[in-house]
Amino acid sequence: MEKREFKAESKRLLDLMVNSIYTHKEIFLRELISNASDAIDKIYYKTLTDENLKFHKENYYIKVVSDKDKGELKIIDTGIGMTREELEENLGTIAKSGSLAFKKENEIKDGYDIIGQFGVGFYSAFMIAEKVTVITKALGSDEAYKWESKGADGYTIEVCEKETVGTEIILKIKENSEDENYQDYLEEYKLRNLIKKYSDFIRYPIKMDITERKLKEGSDNEYEDHVEEQTINSMVPIWTKNKSELTKEDYDNFYFEKHYGFDKPVKHIHISTDGAVMYNAILFIPERIPFDYYTKEYEKGLELYSNGVLIMNKCSDLLPDYFSFVKGLVDSQDLSLNISREMLQHDRQLKLIAKNIKNKIKSELLSLLKNERNKYEEFYKSFGRQLKYGVYSDFGSDKDTLQDLLMFYSSKEKKLITLDEYISRMTEEQKYIYYATGDSVERIAKLPQTEMVEEKGYEILYLTEDIDEFAIKMIMSYKEKEFRSVSSGDLGIEDKENENKTENEDAANKELFEKMKTILSDKIKDVRTSKRLKSHPVCLTNDGDISIEMEKVLSSMPNNENIKADKVLEININHNIFKALKEAYEKDEEKLALYTNVLYNQALLIEGLPIDDPVEFTNNICKLMI
Ligand code: ADP
Ligand code: MG
Repeated sequence: MEKREFKAESKRLLDLMVNSIYTHKEIFLRELISNASDAIDKIYYKTLTDENLKFHKENYYIKVVSDKDKGELKIIDTGIGMTREELEENLGTIAKSGSLAFKKENEIKDGYDIIGQFGVGFYSAFMIAEKVTVITKALGSDEAYKWESKGADGYTIEVCEKETVGTEIILKIKENSEDENYQDYLEEYKLRNLIKKYSDFIRYPIKMDITERKLKEGSDNEYEDHVEEQTINSMVPIWTKNKSELTKEDYDNFYFEKHYGFDKPVKHIHISTDGAVMYNAILFIPERIPFDYYTKEYEKGLELYSNGVLIMNKCSDLLPDYFSFVKGLVDSQDLSLNISREMLQHDRQLKLIAKNIKNKIKSELLSLLKNERNKYEEFYKSFGRQLKYGVYSDFGSDKDTLQDLLMFYSSKEKKLITLDEYISRMTEEQKYIYYATGDSVERIAKLPQTEMVEEKGYEILYLTEDIDEFAIKMIMSYKEKEFRSVSSGDLGIEDKENENKTENEDAANKELFEKMKTILSDKIKDVRTSKRLKSHPVCLTNDGDISIEMEKVLSSMPNNENIKADKVLEININHNIFKALKEAYEKDEEKLALYTNVLYNQALLIEGLPIDDPVEFTNNICKLMI
């Protein structure tokens, strides 16, 4: 017999799991049963491709056996079993993907995420067992092995006897402690309830020996115990059931059981159709972002079943990228079992289903927005960004589908609003949908560029995410109203008096502005009198399509092509600083250069842009002070 240590990571996980993080200890049974079911599935797959094997349904089952006297619980399956190597690999190490998370140890907050996302379900057995024994014989192998472990110390593997192919997990249940009644997991009623609650839809029978008190034969007052093997689960996949038979809890449990996530989904969508395309689907809209959602590792897709049999784990063709957060499954009778991935991509049925699903998700999200605003906002906080990417990508081909789902922060309402809500509040004279960009709501609220629009009493959308302005530019106009940045050249605000004045001033100060332009050389495209400033002295705006915010985003991207906005320095001619500029222009060229540089750098700072030379800037300020 060999004694082995767990790999370091497994050891840590075990510690975490057993000692603190997992609050719902009862899920251990669900995990072990789902492993057993997976193991039978694996045999089933083999029989599909190997002519020498036959799958006789009645030979495949899972059995849960409780022995109160010994304090042992067994989970027996007739699945594919494990070879010695597989025992080492699968039970001695955490699922490989798990290692990623453990590098980021600090981010481990609650155990749910770990177990769900890395499939380390087996280890949950140690939450309720002081010793776990696995006796297993792999398909096609002559030898059986016994794996045993008492937890973090390590495990042993030795050869043993086992007649049939399959696996037996034996749990030596912990003694009761002050706050946990572990021995309860040996009670028939408890086990039965747990199987019903978590594993009802498992496609193979989960059997138990059930004891029932019955009248003794030939007697009318004497009772005796009858033991009878019963199948506890209904084996009917939840998606083939009638919606009316199912409660929200059933869907939530299913989401959990399937490891779709450990949040509570904000919405489930149950589709049963029998039109041109026949399929059932259960889809979930999660509440929280999976930890790997915005990484390359995240794979979108739905499980694909054909008549109750899983044919693909993540069928990505079923979901557009912008709905990649949706979890769930599709079961269609119209798909062939042996269909290959390549064929699937061209499958007409599948395309129809995908289109159908896309529309359904959209309409469900809209109804969530309409009827359960808070929930929608929760969802939007997590996945709004993805919807905005959807608007922007593929040259805006899906913007019509998505634009009604977008929300932006409103300067007036001080919360997220939809574009439709914005439009509904616009007055006759307001021409455009105004927006302002910046790092945060607080920062945008202070931007000088918003002054004029604000004074007009118009609502401004605050765009705080880097994708926002790109998405807005892609939409261009909503319900025939164009979007307009508060920094854009023409604000569409009629103010003849002011307009004439600025035009006159522009002409009158042409030379001053030219001079300032030379001082700032290639940093800016132009210096102008401002039509949008009220109390602030200066601000930066842009000519052309690339805004300053977009420049920031683009320059932070890898292989950026150094795309720059055409910056314009606007001067508030009603501000006293303007007088000072004029005076300096007439009397003291050096001073003008100093003022111009300081003002330009101020404008950069307000815009959230780095200034070129902070030391020079502070020196300049000092020069002004003494
Ligand atoms: P997951 O099920 O997500 O892969 P687990 O920790 O639950 O992670 O199980 C680890 C691995 O151990 C499984 O992937 C499987 O290869 C193996 N395993 C666990 N239980 C059984 C079983 N009853 N029969 C065969 N293999 C099993
Ligand atoms: Mg598992």
